[in-house]
Amino acid sequence: MTVNVLFAAHADRWATYDAPLRAAFSEFGLSAHLAQDLPPDQVDYIVYAPNSPLQDFTPFTRAKAVLNLWAGVEAVVDNPTLTIPLARMVDPGMTKSMTEWVAGHVMRYHLGMDRHIQNPEHRWEPHTPPLAAERRVAILGMGELGSAVAEVLTALGFTVHGWSRRERHLARVVMHHGATGLAAALSNAEILVLLLPDTPATENTLNAETLAHLPRGACVINPGRGPLIDDTALIEALDSGQVAAATLDVFRTEPLPADHPFWSHPKVTVTPHIAAETRPVTAARVIADNIRRGETGAPFLHLVDRTSGY
Ligand code: NAP
Repeated sequence: MTVNVLFAAHADRWATYDAPLRAAFSEFGLSAHLAQDLPPDQVDYIVYAPNSPLQDFTPFTRAKAVLNLWAGVEAVVDNPTLTIPLARMVDPGMTKSMTEWVAGHVMRYHLGMDRHIQNPEHRWEPHTPPLAAERRVAILGMGELGSAVAEVLTALGFTVHGWSRRERHLARVVMHHGATGLAAALSNAEILVLLLPDTPATENTLNAETLAHLPRGACVINPGRGPLIDDTALIEALDSGQVAAATLDVFRTEPLPADHPFWSHPKVTVTPHIAAETRPVTAARVIADNIRRGETGAPFLHLVDRTSGY
């Protein structure tokens, strides 16, 4: 039987995903009709980007699941018209991209690279950084991405602390969890990495009170989501020296408005939400696998828990 798959994302994404999705459907033995436009009552699966024009799921009366192209689901999880299962994107290509991006920015701060890259007065000032084993990195959010980042950082030798909502055990990582574990994780964050989802419970995780738990002169790296940080509190912490530097990939408003103080702050590096884009070839295989599961009665992978919001 042929399944009808609607590709509901911005039109400019079609050219990137069309061929990989068709190849993956074939690899997974699916007979699928993939299109950008289908009669809603004939759609079986919706491949979805939350910034798509499709916001009302009501007419999709026979659809079995929405398969999100993004890891973050904050823009769709509360949609009251969405009553069928929602799977988020867990893509090996995206995970690899995130580990590379975070490892690069952690190494920048760990090695103090900036003092040599920006040295207009040509100062000859040897400065020996500690070994990675002597540097404590904390990761808030130890899911798919946080745990993969932890694996890479521990392989490099860093002492890694992690924080999750529920109790978790990970080899070579000192784990903390729940509201009571946050201060302990932060107090070990000479370099802090934010990989939490954007939910009501994670908004402003980094605020004036929690920033005070960081070791003085900590560096902050945020490839998670903008609302995890109280922007004003971070700027105050940067100005006071409590935080030495920040690299921010995600923001409350994107693109980051031209007049936002992050753009001109000398201690802030802005990157334009590039840490880990979904990679079409690997992501298409994840989507095809989930459709195959739906068609064979197996449980969908990567389902979003609508009550916790991620
Ligand atoms: P995930 O697998 O769902 O992991 C989320 C982690 O956050 C889990 O460890 C979870 O704890 C923890 N968490 C959630 N709420 C919490 C709370 N209230 N207190 C403490 N910990 C909490 O998500 P993921 O795939 O790793 O992705 C994480 C986020 O990265 C995404 O939501 C997205 O916003 C962001 N992202 C950004 C980019 C980019 O390019 N910048 C790309 C991809 C993803 P439990 O383990 O206990 O559930």
